[in-house]
Amino acid sequence: MRPSEAFDSNRQLAAGKRTIALPMANNPESPLDLLWKEYSLVFKDFDDLTLARWLAQTLSQLEEKAWRLSHPLLGAYRLASQAGQERHIWLKRLANPPQAYAESPCCRSPMLPLLTRDVKDAGLICQHCNDTLVPFDEIPAEARPELETWANDYSVVHAVAHWDDRQRKAAGDYDHAYETAAKDAEKLLCRAGEKLAVKLLEFYPAVVWEDQDECLEVRPEDVRF
Ligand SMILES: [Zn+2]
Repeated sequence: MRPSEAFDSNRQLAAGKRTIALPMANNPESPLDLLWKEYSLVFKDFDDLTLARWLAQTLSQLEEKAWRLSHPLLGAYRLASQAGQERHIWLKRLANPPQAYAESPCCRSPMLPLLTRDVKDAGLICQHCNDTLVPFDEIPAEARPELETWANDYSVVHAVAHWDDRQRKAAGDYDHAYETAAKDAEKLLCRAGEKLAVKLLEFYPAVVWEDQDECLEVRPEDVRF
């Protein structure tokens, strides 16, 4: 199967400003996205104090681990944090986040970085506001070379999903090239989860990594250690 046009246009949101969708939801009008919206209602019913405590408590559960973006706990946290952002929950100081989490420069919520294939352009992404949390240059130097190599490797593989007609023809069997790229992406995503995100735990209390590639149709269940 080929990536749909919708995926393509979603991807090409200005470089470095890709909207990181909730797990497996890519199109705001899709049935899946509407379902996530329905899920999120539970947090709308929480009062501010309850929500602040839930977020702080969950952050302590997340500590010292690298998390798949697709993990249900992360999904729940992202929904809760969206509700929290709308209500400026962290600015109200209703509950203290665990000490290990410094304040984010982007939105003053606790630092919870997301590692994506766009790390070179977009840096590490804030799980609370989806803005850049740590620009690439500000990631500790010990971690950067490995991230850079990985991101370069990934972009070559990922580009196959966006080849134009000329490039597809030149490849001969495009379906085969696409399948090969998807397999390579699976391996690279494994490396992100197993090595790179774990290495980042030396610098951040918890790290989330994107375990899918919608353009190459790599799903979280395809990324296995
Ligand atoms: Zn932020």
